[in-house]
Amino acid sequence: MDRGPAPVPAPPGEQDGRRRIPRTDAVLADPRLAEAAARLGRGVVKAAVVTAQRRARAGEIPADAVADAAAGALPGTAAGLRPVVNATGVLLHTNLGRAPLSDAAREAMLVASGATDVELDLATGARARRGRSALAALLDAVPAAEAAHVVNNGAAALVLAATALAGDREIIVSRGELVEIGDGFRIPELLAATGARLREVGTTNRTSPDDYAAAVGPGTGFILKVHPSNFRVTGFTRSADVAELAGLGVPVVADIGSGLLGPEPLLPDEPDAATWLKAGADLVTASGDKLLGGPQCGLVLGKEEYVRRLSRHPLARALRVDKLTLAALEATVRGPRTPTDEALNADVTSLRERARRLADRLRAAGVDAAPVDSDAAVGGGGAPGVVLPSAAVALPEPYAARLRHGSPAVMGRIEDGRCLLDLRAVPPVQDDALARAVAAAAEGW
Ligand SMILES: *Cc1c(COP(=O)(O)O)cnc(C)c1O
Repeated sequence: MDRGPAPVPAPPGEQDGRRRIPRTDAVLADPRLAEAAARLGRGVVKAAVVTAQRRARAGEIPADAVADAAAGALPGTAAGLRPVVNATGVLLHTNLGRAPLSDAAREAMLVASGATDVELDLATGARARRGRSALAALLDAVPAAEAAHVVNNGAAALVLAATALAGDREIIVSRGELVEIGDGFRIPELLAATGARLREVGTTNRTSPDDYAAAVGPGTGFILKVHPSNFRVTGFTRSADVAELAGLGVPVVADIGSGLLGPEPLLPDEPDAATWLKAGADLVTASGDKLLGGPQCGLVLGKEEYVRRLSRHPLARALRVDKLTLAALEATVRGPRTPTDEALNADVTSLRERARRLADRLRAAGVDAAPVDSDAAVGGGGAPGVVLPSAAVALPEPYAARLRHGSPAVMGRIEDGRCLLDLRAVPPVQDDALARAVAAAAEGW
């Protein structure tokens, strides 16, 4: 049998190092790793040990440092998701999970994560309506809504409305509102997937109330008004507003996208649930994790009759949210200002002051940092074209990759060959962690 070339003997030191690489069981007996195995699970810790052994075998670390390296590389939790400081200047960053939750929402989720009275009335011991206090919070916040229902996301709210209210009948929608949400998902395809038929009216740039009126007939399920949340059509345009559609004798479902419950003065072009319901929408659908600043979910608000048809439809069971979402949503609606709201309303003078202080601190630590003005955006497919004046710390571009690998990871934005750390979406309490992450990234340069 051909054994191939004889192995080249390693230099004596390395050979010893290889022989001395400790066995997995021996490393796992290290008290730090044994404790971590109880907290994170044996598989998670074993993976860190195997990686450290591989590094020792490759000569990257000494063989007697395997346990230290494994302990140092342990993740903070048993899940792979890591905390990231959002210094991109995009408030609702889709790849960073859109809205960050408030402390109030996080605490509510933690409490609800155990056994909790999500469907139980503790006063009587009888079964109670699931999520009733979250629904009550929504109705208190939007008195124009007679009833509310919560599903998994904005897309699920549309699917449920289409299934429960249109069935195989027509949904009348403007050609100017056939929106692709993102990642290749398109609202018209989503609706068609339910079996409903789309009745497109008007043109890309102009659709009048008469176009809708001409399409209404016995085969109509409802009129759908979709807020074009991630693009703008300008020039020779016309669209029908909710008030113009409300008198046509068929239900009007309005997808506002962003989840604003009431008007936001900084974003005058963003629709909100209260205004569109008052204008005559029978149902409003929205996302929970955009401008509302809450957990991923889909809100349905409006007339009792229609909300009930959605919430009692068999499909509602497949789209229902868990207790964690209900807890976070209620705390978002009832609780203090959300991080998203704080970021949106942050005053540019204070952002500049924070950027200056951070840059001073970093320069004192030997980092090539400078405070600069910057443009932030709402993001998450919301408020296209709106520029939020902001401030950033500019670093040499190679920092971007190093900061992504740090702990916490920091996600900045590359602009003109520099790495900008935009502060608008960074809560002020994270400034210190940000400075330490940059200082750590600077080490070894
Ligand atoms: C974001 C958005 C959706 C989809 O909502 P998800 O919560 O992402 O499912 C639907 N319609 C509009 C207008 C949107 O902006």
